[in-house]
Amino acid sequence: MNIMGDFEMTIAGKGVTTAETIEVVNPATGQVFATAPDCSQAQLDEAVASSKAAFKTWRRVPIAERQAMVFKAGEALLAHADELARLFTREQGRPVEAAKQEIQGAGQWLQAVSRMTPPVHVTEDSDTQFIETRYVPLGVVCAIAPWNFPVSLAMWKLAPALVAGNTMVLKPSPFTPLCTLKIGEIFRDIFPAGVLNIITGGDRLGPWMTSHPGFAKISFTGSTETGKRVMESAAKDLKRVTLELGGNDAAIVLPDVDLDEVAQKIFFGAFFNTAQICVATKRLYVHEAVYDGLRDRLAAIAKAVKVGDGTEQGSVLGPIQNKRQYDRVMDLLNDAKANDLTLIQGAPIPEGGGYFIPVTIVDNPPENSRVVQEEAFGPILPMIKFSDIDDVIDRANASDYGLAGAVWSRDVDKAIDIARRMETGTVWINQNLNLRPDTPFGGHKQSGFGVENGMEGLLEYMVPQAVYVARS
Ligand code: NAD
Repeated sequence: MNIMGDFEMTIAGKGVTTAETIEVVNPATGQVFATAPDCSQAQLDEAVASSKAAFKTWRRVPIAERQAMVFKAGEALLAHADELARLFTREQGRPVEAAKQEIQGAGQWLQAVSRMTPPVHVTEDSDTQFIETRYVPLGVVCAIAPWNFPVSLAMWKLAPALVAGNTMVLKPSPFTPLCTLKIGEIFRDIFPAGVLNIITGGDRLGPWMTSHPGFAKISFTGSTETGKRVMESAAKDLKRVTLELGGNDAAIVLPDVDLDEVAQKIFFGAFFNTAQICVATKRLYVHEAVYDGLRDRLAAIAKAVKVGDGTEQGSVLGPIQNKRQYDRVMDLLNDAKANDLTLIQGAPIPEGGGYFIPVTIVDNPPENSRVVQEEAFGPILPMIKFSDIDDVIDRANASDYGLAGAVWSRDVDKAIDIARRMETGTVWINQNLNLRPDTPFGGHKQSGFGVENGMEGLLEYMVPQAVYVARS
């Protein structure tokens, strides 16, 4: 297999090319380096039809066999991690080592989910009747993934959907289609034809998919704005939806922390993947007693961290993944400058056509500034002073988002008390960014609808069916 070229969709178990293509840009150079298929409406119909046909048999394959195939898919990802990581860096921008970690993590994720089995509940087993509720698959799942974690977020959908007995048509972001296309090729030998179709295309393909009557469910990860459109489109024929959307996550740093111990962790909790993480710290509330100390430590880390082409030795943070996002982040940065906010910037960025932005800490901006109120999804972190706990919890919760948050303190009981008052789906105490296949993940408020991961996530790909048996 040529990992770096010959990008084809997978429809009905076969490699498929298209009349038209979309261009794929290396964000470190701003140059087009590959093209990917641009799926036509007829090809989407073929993909859905093949998934529908495959569903009839796949749902009746014993779950142990489906689990074994998902496990094998995990093994295949692990085996191809090195080659896929190089392709990942070229299309996504993240430095190779961290890219490889995502692919390996996704392989392990598939294996972990392959061990999950939905429960069966017996509510009566008497002389007169037997009643059991089991969970059955839904049908064809429409999976739509974003560009920030293109491999792992696609596998979060694939693994439970297929274990549950659904079939799937998966679409990666037009900004990062290549690894997913190659994964489709790698998995062609593992799953029966039609169980997993992978299609790519430009901006018109997502809406075509979400309005397609052949899907039973949509699993979407992306922005809140697009999530609302997806839900509207799904309402037409009452498709089930799971929406993993944006966040503006707050971290609260209490005065008792050991600054030397937490600074590095807080820095990477905000800036890893060039801050393009739904659950990154995006508002850092720091108690006034430790504010200056933490600010100076974060500034020193920012100066030492190399921002550069992910293929270059020593690069820790890559570029912004695409021009559209680069323009959004630059707009926020310019707004902060126009409002005379104090910016502390890190190491210089490479010159040339890449979408690089220096690590930027905004020093105590007003609560109502755009950089505090909006999800940056790029390396601009507002750091805000507080003195009163009740007040800071109110400020952290004063958001339409509710994805995740963090509390930093040596007093774990106090931190847990604060965590319980935060209106978010996940809260970390003295850690960050930790997500697991066996623990549900989802957003409160406008950060999402439904959950992924854990048994709750698996069951979102199923519906309960109660069977009543009369006994005489
Ligand atoms: P996006 O909403 O622009 O795109 C996400 C996906 O939706 C892409 O595949 C895109 O092609 C597709 N799409 C776009 N318009 C569509 C439409 N009208 N109908 C159907 N599909 C459509 O998001 P993005 O810029 O790729 O990702 C960044 C956003 O995703 C951020 O807000 C981030 O917080 C969020 N995100 C959330 C999670 C989570 O798990 N909660 C994880 C990662 C990213």
